[in-house]
Amino acid sequence: MTWEDNVRKVVPYVAGEQPDKPDMIKLNTNECPYPPAPGVKRLAEEMDCGRLRLYPDSHTTPLVDALAEYYHVDPGQVFVGVGSDDVLSMAFLTFFNGKLPILFPDVTYSFYDVWADLYRIPYQTCALDSDWHIRPEDYKRPNGGVIFPNPNAPTGVFESLDTVEEIIAANRDVVVIVDEAYVDFGGESALPLLKKYDNLLVVQTFSKSRAMAGLRIGFCIGSKKLIGYLNDVKFSFNSYTMNLPAQLLGVEAVRDDGYFKETTGKIIAARERAKAELRELGFTFPDSRANFIFASHEKVPAEQIFAALREADIYVRYWNRPRISNYLRITVGTEEQMDRLIGFLKEYLDKYR
Ligand code: PMP
Repeated sequence: MTWEDNVRKVVPYVAGEQPDKPDMIKLNTNECPYPPAPGVKRLAEEMDCGRLRLYPDSHTTPLVDALAEYYHVDPGQVFVGVGSDDVLSMAFLTFFNGKLPILFPDVTYSFYDVWADLYRIPYQTCALDSDWHIRPEDYKRPNGGVIFPNPNAPTGVFESLDTVEEIIAANRDVVVIVDEAYVDFGGESALPLLKKYDNLLVVQTFSKSRAMAGLRIGFCIGSKKLIGYLNDVKFSFNSYTMNLPAQLLGVEAVRDDGYFKETTGKIIAARERAKAELRELGFTFPDSRANFIFASHEKVPAEQIFAALREADIYVRYWNRPRISNYLRITVGTEEQMDRLIGFLKEYLDKYR
């Protein structure tokens, strides 16, 4: 027996790399290519550092209130965390506490199985169909909870609210989490379903559509009862998760709806143009409603294209994993960034025509 026998051993989640080169094109972690709303910058510059002497508001009241107002829900229905990873992690710990396995898709956000292992939650994955869609019937068996992103990652595939509701309605005795990290790029939120289902938790983030990945803000909305249980666990874990600047700057981002719509609109437009251009170059992909495209080339292996792009300081994401090892996940950047990506691919793929 050594001390190592008592260590909680985990295989950690691997985030996309964060290179920092002057001329690189970074399309590997689904960040927003535009800066946060102007009000965020203004407030950051004016912020009174004297207040940092005090602990922040442990209930993140300003941000909870701003989100409640924006999404037309009661503040008691909102929970804020340090990125949606923090919110999801707390939700796993709080709600997935049964003996039966939780269910999620086989191809999905690769943090879910990590949290399940960390918290010793049994899980089973349900295979997406050949078009990368969820098969709702897979979720109609005894389970300890359900989680899936909508749109899904890394596929970008969006499931209709009818499908989402079918899954929730079949799982009234467990918590169903819909991870809407990418919903602002043309998906439809499950938030209206909260009126009918008190076991639904909708999770969103400021990291993509609100251009604030560096500040770490995520939130979820659910019934007051769900949020109450989530807060009990959070306050048993760490009362002061979100720092004061993040709380205040987050409010500024929520307030500027015009800027939010403008930037998400630009990303959607760039995505639709990139889809046409990638198709022209011999790529196929499921139709994405997220800020990324999950693309496979008809002739050249994804791993090879990934390496060639990387060599040219164009970063995209590649996983050598079952079912997806011939796909690249390409974040949608600015029109100019996409032009450079497409220009490179055109030249590189020319020799394989
Ligand atoms: N959910 C999904 C599906 C994601 O792709 C990500 C981004 N890695 C997250 C949640 C977490 O994002 P964040 O913690 O930055 O809010």
